[in-house]
Amino acid sequence: MKKIAILGSTGSIGTQALQVIAEHPDLYEAYVLTANSQADLLIEQARRFRPAQVVIAGESLYGRVSEALNDLPIQVYAGADALEQVVQNGEVDIVLTALVGFAGLRPTVAAIRSHKQIALANKETLVVAGELVTQLAYENHAAILPVDSEHSAIFQCLMGEQSEIEKIILTASGGPFRKFTMDELKTVTPAMALKHPNWDMGAKITIDSATMMNKGFEVIEAKWLFGVEAADIQVVVHPQSVVHSAVQYRDGAVKAQLGVPDMRVPIQLAFSYPQRLASSFDRLDWYHMTDLTFEAPDLDKFRCLALAFEALQRGGTVPCVLNAANEVVNLAFRQERCSFLQMPEIIEQTIASTTFIANPSLDDYFAVDAEARRRALSLLNH
Ligand code: NAD
Ligand code: MG
Repeated sequence: MKKIAILGSTGSIGTQALQVIAEHPDLYEAYVLTANSQADLLIEQARRFRPAQVVIAGESLYGRVSEALNDLPIQVYAGADALEQVVQNGEVDIVLTALVGFAGLRPTVAAIRSHKQIALANKETLVVAGELVTQLAYENHAAILPVDSEHSAIFQCLMGEQSEIEKIILTASGGPFRKFTMDELKTVTPAMALKHPNWDMGAKITIDSATMMNKGFEVIEAKWLFGVEAADIQVVVHPQSVVHSAVQYRDGAVKAQLGVPDMRVPIQLAFSYPQRLASSFDRLDWYHMTDLTFEAPDLDKFRCLALAFEALQRGGTVPCVLNAANEVVNLAFRQERCSFLQMPEIIEQTIASTTFIANPSLDDYFAVDAEARRRALSLLNH
């Protein structure tokens, strides 16, 4: 029986992880559940899954959650610091980082320092501090298993291989604006961007998919997870999202992982590795998969992807600034305070005007993140 702490249990990944746990009650137990502000859903999940501990990050909601659960033997905590505490609990085997944004960094580091297995959905952690986090994981013998579908696919292509990777083929759906002209991109609305063609995800990552910043983040994530250089990661737009990614070896052979787009598959594998468990999820229908297409991404239209490659090349705190500025403009776009094409502009200007540190410590990342957010906000309000 593995005990799992789900950071962000009320989100898209978190709720799907609970479905996986519900399918295998003999193997997995939801030991910790946490949420930011969705108190009612957290309460409902806690009453159903009976975790030992729950955390509501929004402190003002503590009373509501603790009262609703006071007839059960569940410890209730509030605040961001509590996230760091609960992942260190000696009973926890696996920490699923399914919370969104920079907020994932601190609890992920705490979990690694406590030698927990990490099922990593929160890619922002590796974007911001990939070098530090992967080094810490190595030193603490903490395995990081990818939940992101592309990285799970790459991980599966690497299973059983001893040879070096020649190249990673990172597939991208291209998002809802793949065929839009530059002129059409000027006026796209949040509602249009929130309609992703293949995946039903949280709002922040759905906007990142529309700008293709998500794919840029995944390039950075792939570098740190698999130790490949940016030059050896090729982004390929594949609108059907059936080929989840591929690895090319030095003899020219390419291994790809395919499947129906369903995040429960990579979530389950991150829990069960090295085993594969049975599932009732949909299967590929080979007679009706007529068009699998592949094309190059348009880096002029999707500047965010180019900015991510540049940030990775420059290293140090640049990817941290990229992430911070992106979080600011992503939210601003959703609140209609920023246009679609302004997003990469503000990110680029923030990178140009924020402190650069070549070999940052964990504290440096926090300072630079805060500075970059202030810069991005002031550029936005200009
Ligand atoms: P979501 O918005 O649906 O859910 C986010 C969860 O995190 C919620 O439970 C929320 O309460 C919690 N949360 C948000 N901000 C928090 C904070 N500051 N402190 C504590 N908790 C907080 O997001 P999602 O789509 O499930 O994505 C979660 C992570 O997984 C992201 O990093 C995303 O990039 C990654 N991811 C998601 C998918 C997907 O299909 N949804 C696929 C690949 C990777
Ligand atoms: Mg992905």
